[in-house]
Amino acid sequence: MQIMLYDTTLRDGTQREGMSLSCEDKLKIARILDDLGIHYIEGGWPGSNPKDAEFFQRVKSLGLTHARVAAFGATRHAGNRCEDDANVRALVAAETPVVTLVGKSSILHVEQVLETTREENLAMIADTVAYFKQRDKEVVYDAEHFFDGYKLDPNYTLATLAAAARAGANCLVLCDTNGGALPHEVAAITRAVRASFHAQGLPEPDLGIHTHNDGALAVANALAAVQEGVRQVQGTINGYGERCGNMDLIPVIANLQLKLGYACVNPAQLQKLSDVAHSVAAIANLNPDPHAAYVGRSAFAHKGGIHVAAIEKVASSYQHIDPTLVGNTKRVVVSELAGRGNIRVRAEELGLTLQGVEGNVVQRIKELEHRGFQFEAAEGSFEMLIRRSAVDYAPPFDLLDFTVIVEKRGNHQITSQATVKVRVGDQVMHTAAEGDGPVNALDGAIRKALLPHYPELAEVRLVDYKVRIIDEHRGTAATPRVLIESASGDERWSTIGASHNIIEASYQALWDSLELPLLRSRERQNRESS
Ligand SMILES: [Zn+2]
Repeated sequence: MQIMLYDTTLRDGTQREGMSLSCEDKLKIARILDDLGIHYIEGGWPGSNPKDAEFFQRVKSLGLTHARVAAFGATRHAGNRCEDDANVRALVAAETPVVTLVGKSSILHVEQVLETTREENLAMIADTVAYFKQRDKEVVYDAEHFFDGYKLDPNYTLATLAAAARAGANCLVLCDTNGGALPHEVAAITRAVRASFHAQGLPEPDLGIHTHNDGALAVANALAAVQEGVRQVQGTINGYGERCGNMDLIPVIANLQLKLGYACVNPAQLQKLSDVAHSVAAIANLNPDPHAAYVGRSAFAHKGGIHVAAIEKVASSYQHIDPTLVGNTKRVVVSELAGRGNIRVRAEELGLTLQGVEGNVVQRIKELEHRGFQFEAAEGSFEMLIRRSAVDYAPPFDLLDFTVIVEKRGNHQITSQATVKVRVGDQVMHTAAEGDGPVNALDGAIRKALLPHYPELAEVRLVDYKVRIIDEHRGTAATPRVLIESASGDERWSTIGASHNIIEASYQALWDSLELPLLRSRERQNRESS
């Protein structure tokens, strides 16, 4: 049985306190979700902010191969016509193949929050669904507060669903908006919904489930609904969302596919789960949870002596699944052998050979991670580390010294200036540049020295710069970790630096970000000339 996966990381997920995604971030995540095999990507609420409207414009040229893009919005306002409703018009303007409409199903919300009548609410649902069906949209209807509403007045709640179904909604999604439902209630109410459609002689609708995690049961509730015949599952990557979060799509996909025998994505896509969880966390500038089910770094980490001895004999003795199925790895904590294996595999993935220096690389990674580096989100710096470990490594340049001056005098504007000393071959250059801030000035000065030797660097753009504090309890004395993302044409790479001094951390990340493309272009030239 195929389950349709509906991701709302870009809309409901961004409701998480402290999370904010730029349009660029949202496009990156959309590409990742498409690769994972997600069927629907809800891009945002175009009526609520201009950033979402920009996303819907740009996503059209992203070339998604699998996912259908959905725009989210509410049913028309009470007493209004769809044609005159600003929210409805914004949904039309988003020009998505799928429109997801949220409507009220709880009598409490209809009468006391919306302050309208039962009949008008039914008309709002029917009119808005019909309006988009006439425009050839696939309509997903989100029945807000469905389970709570059902407990108050089951007949009215079912009537709202019937109104959406009669107007042509393609899927009716039962929402546990407040996140307080329990799995046995979700199962019983889902069963009752299906029975009510039979009783009214209506065709059985496609049902969906949208749960929140306020009772730590969002995944369990979604599984309960699927076992009662629900076919669409809505959630977010890593369970990001308001309050305690939305339903986490990562474990739900793994559970449905590996434990319950439903089809969600293909086996190769399932192996991307760990990568997807970590990449989305990095883009959202959040630390991935090391203890996350299935995909956390510690999800298959074995520390206890008896456990380690047992898993060496029979891997399944202390593991609920084979971690490679979800792209994770079994780890024996504090064993450098495990580390060596991982590094060899990752080096091979990059097409590099280690020439027997795995041990040195492992040691170096341990030292750097202790200082605050984290290579999971910085593939580019990991690649540099391996390349620099080669005995015959010839760096294309060397950064010898730098000085950065940030000046603020009286009412004058703050200025930043950097000077660097760079060696290329046997030539040493001094260059200086001003910039918008110290890192920008440093980047400018380094490029000024390198460009005459490496004109290809003109194509390299810095597309993202993020700072995260590692030991946050230390306040301004904490260690900042800097992540830089660079691009040249279609190619992208992320690099990292960590130091008590934020300028030094940025300098380390910048260095890698400029050295890596030179090595790659040198290799391309070698390949072409041979
Ligand atoms: Zn929600």
